[in-house]
Amino acid sequence: MIRIGQSTDIHRLKAGKPLILGGIKIDSELGIVAHSDGDCLVHVIAEALLGALGLGDLGSHFSDQDPQYKNISSLVILKRVCDMMKERGYEIVNIDSTILIEKPKLSHYIYKMKEALSKTLTVDPSQLNIKATTGEKVGIIGRQEAVVCEAVILIKERGYDE
Ligand SMILES: [Zn+2]
Repeated sequence: MIRIGQSTDIHRLKAGKPLILGGIKIDSELGIVAHSDGDCLVHVIAEALLGALGLGDLGSHFSDQDPQYKNISSLVILKRVCDMMKERGYEIVNIDSTILIEKPKLSHYIYKMKEALSKTLTVDPSQLNIKATTGEKVGIIGRQEAVVCEAVILIKERGYDE
């Protein structure tokens, strides 16, 4: 049995806030406004995983009203969702993801993000793809008002062979 999941997430950008994506702190004038660390990339991977499992959305499992999730690393949430997958007998085939942000250039950070995420997910970095693109100076991305992340994930039942 194989299953697919998808997620899109948006966060507002504001001066003086930290920018953390894929578990990595990024040098940036603008950062993410959020209840947790606002790690948009980790949010979409966790939510795509919930989607593949048919378990609804991230907010219903990890409420942004809940004080226990205030300022926690989103990697903790991702680890919990990953455990939910393993308990149900599934494993990750591959993940593809995109970060839409105008600035800064993320190419230098992608290797580190892949390292942090594949460690949390206990997958090989080759199973995880991260792409970054800008908003071409137009729209909410181009005006640096927001960051958007998207992810697609494929999971398979343990022991399932193609
Ligand atoms: Zn989010």
